[in-house]
Amino acid sequence: MSPHITCLYCQQANPAPETECRQCGMPLPAEAALAGERRLRRFTWFCVGLTVFCTVMFFWLPRDIV
Ligand SMILES: [Zn+2]
Repeated sequence: MSPHITCLYCQQANPAPETECRQCGMPLPAEAALAGERRLRRFTWFCVGLTVFCTVMFFWLPRDIV
């Protein structure tokens, strides 16, 4: 899987080393796009971990305490 950078102006997918959009010529937010992808993956794993944590707590904690 090679990283692609989506142009903010025309939504054209450009290969990672490109610094300008192939379709409209606007500069691409290279670092921001890659960092955003990493952040999204970390956020996804955070959500998965939170779900697992809540499930474990749901079964582990006693239910008769208000
Ligand atoms: Zn573009």
